Amino acid sequence: MKNIAVIGAGTMGNGIAHVFAQSGYKVQLIDISQESLQKGMATITKNLDRMLAKGKITEADKSRTLKNIATYTDLSKGVSTAQLVVEAATEQRDIKLGLFKELDAITDANTILATNTSSISITQIASVTAKPENVIGMHFMNPVPIMNLVEIIRGYNTSDETTKTVMELAKKLGKTPTEVNDYPGFVANRILMPMINEAIETVYHGVAGVEEIDTVMKLGMAHPMGPLQLADFIGLDVCLSILNVMYDGFKNPKYAPCPLLVNMVMAKKLGVKSGEGFYDYTVSKKAEKVAAQFN
Ligand code: NAD
Repeated sequence: MKNIAVIGAGTMGNGIAHVFAQSGYKVQLIDISQESLQKGMATITKNLDRMLAKGKITEADKSRTLKNIATYTDLSKGVSTAQLVVEAATEQRDIKLGLFKELDAITDANTILATNTSSISITQIASVTAKPENVIGMHFMNPVPIMNLVEIIRGYNTSDETTKTVMELAKKLGKTPTEVNDYPGFVANRILMPMINEAIETVYHGVAGVEEIDTVMKLGMAHPMGPLQLADFIGLDVCLSILNVMYDGFKNPKYAPCPLLVNMVMAKKLGVKSGEGFYDYTVSKKAEKVAAQFN
């Protein structure tokens, strides 16, 4: 496998493109928005510069990685040579189903179609294709160049061969793949999102302030980052979408998103990507400080 298409150049897509390109794969990075592609490439360059400054890569590694990535706004051109497609577009069911329908028509029978969805059913995504055995969840963690885990989610019809290929590929990226089954939220978000939602409920009910809640979890539970700061990094819109998928999927009120989260998303306070969430990231020095803490 040499050619990988990554769909979506946002928070996750640019990180996924980065790790494949750094491991020597040719990457076609695709987004409907030219601005997202430019922002994504700027983020990859910034992250490579940070690794260079820390002595983790050489100048040659940096330029080789950047040369391995080509950008496209046209889906069919972008996926034309891909043996694996990793979809990391916006977490909305209709967008994913539309994309997989189109991907099924424009890729050949052997192409593996992976999705980085945080919660949407792999089995449902696969059902709109004629090759559900080739469809699999490849759930990278944020930030992709730093985090080791890849949650590998088998849909109802995913073949052993597809699973084996994707598990081996994740290892070639230096990651640790972990196989799980296809239920709403899989494992990572089924456990993480109720904690984040409860932290937001704790703010909503005035039990403590944002920094106080994060401090309790950082110092008390040895978490590297508090749940509210983590929510800002994930994106509050992404958190809301995941909670809604689990709420709908299990019909259990324990997954109901906190009204404060719903309000913040409607007010476009999405966290780091919009400049403000539970914290303010508009002062670039402060954002850099938070990002450095994460890295
Ligand atoms: P994001 O909002 O940062 O980026 C999404 C990108 O998809 C945008 O650039 C948008 O222009 C693009 N896009 C939308 N529709 C498209 C289409 N039809 N074709 C091509 N590009 C399209 O989102 P994100 O946080 O990077 O999330 C992407 C996926 O990764 C989601 O499924 C999400 O659940 C998952 N995920 C997110 C995180 C996280 O921490 N943010 C972690 C793991 C997985």
